[in-house]
Amino acid sequence: MSELLGISKHESFARDVLKTKAYASARPGEALALVEIPRRRLGPHDILIDIHYCGVCHSDIHQSRDEWSGGIFPMVPGHEITGVVAGAGSAVTRFSLGDPVGVGCMVDACRECNPCLDGDEQYCERGPIFTYNSKDRNGAPTYGGYSGQIVVDEDFVLRIPRHLPLDRAAPLLCAGITTYSPLRHWHAGRGQNVAIIGFGGLGHMGVKFAKAMGAHVTVLSRSEQKAADAKKLGADQYFSLNDQSALQKRKNSFHLILNTISAPHDLNGYLDLLRFEGTMVVVGVPPEGSNLNHAKLILQRRNLSGSHIGGLVETQKMLDFCGQNDILSDIELIQIDTINDAYDRVLKGDVRYRFVIDCKPLRQ
Ligand code: NAP
Ligand code: ZN
Ligand code: ZN
Repeated sequence: MSELLGISKHESFARDVLKTKAYASARPGEALALVEIPRRRLGPHDILIDIHYCGVCHSDIHQSRDEWSGGIFPMVPGHEITGVVAGAGSAVTRFSLGDPVGVGCMVDACRECNPCLDGDEQYCERGPIFTYNSKDRNGAPTYGGYSGQIVVDEDFVLRIPRHLPLDRAAPLLCAGITTYSPLRHWHAGRGQNVAIIGFGGLGHMGVKFAKAMGAHVTVLSRSEQKAADAKKLGADQYFSLNDQSALQKRKNSFHLILNTISAPHDLNGYLDLLRFEGTMVVVGVPPEGSNLNHAKLILQRRNLSGSHIGGLVETQKMLDFCGQNDILSDIELIQIDTINDAYDRVLKGDVRYRFVIDCKPLRQ
């Protein structure tokens, strides 16, 4: 096992940090390997979480390959964390030992700007502190959930409804909230035609939420291969993006399109599918953007927007909604030593529909 990441042995002793096993990418694009990382000593408002499961988001792959640039290495990815409270600081009031909890993409924000005060910490004007690939308030790198334990301020810890299994709940912390939030914001519901483009980790959660909210749901995928699964999850219609006659027939038909595509693509053709004043929300973050044909928006007064995960209050609402409606992710549980193969399979679209890591071997 390598040196303790991001901290010298002397500092680690002085700060009395906890150490935990983790999987890290040492450099952009390098295979992830076992390391040991520090976790800060519990402050008064901190919670120590024994991580049971962590989902594998496509954003982990973008960042570990530094496709968005500016990445902080070594990098321990993982922001779909579920586990159990294993310790609490002296001033913690909202959680008790043994509580099932989750941590998503953020572990802090400035808490002072207008978006923060409105509960939209993900849009913090100074930038939220992300669960990994970020710097904490003391300037130390943050490390994510491909690890055994994590220390997080209680204000950024979510409560998982007790009857939900922690493995299938893990992807709710990112894939779940990233699809729930725009569907709520643009009022997906009865009488609305909603299309989900890209039927992967985010896409399959989008179908479940849009259906539970009462919308008529259509899935657009690269092939016919996932049609049966999409229908089983609640899609009313499904068609391939390569089926030109199906695309032609559905021009001007959707109120809302959620675009989850992870790779560079031309979105102009997909804008034609929006009805008058319809909205396409992009949530996928491909390494390169798209060229926009302004006429596609102008001629039908269409809207193009983006959406970033969700704030803490909304994420808790989403988890409670999942608890009430028994909504969970469809997962393939994996061992951490197969993570590099799992990344390759995500890139090939070969996952049904989220890999979730069993973090037990990483707990000391
Ligand atoms: P994923 O499981 O890999 O799903 C992405 C889907 O995109 C694939 O399943 C595929 O759908 C489709 N796709 C991939 N390449 C394509 C191409 N060249 N043309 C058309 N479709 C293509 O990834 P994910 O975890 O859902 O994440 C999706 C994207 O959202 C990533 O870019 C991720 O970084 C981003 N993300 C954003 C936020 C946010 O806050 N906005 C949060 C989380 C993730 P089919 O197999 O059905 O064809
Ligand atoms: Zn994510
Ligand atoms: Zn802020």
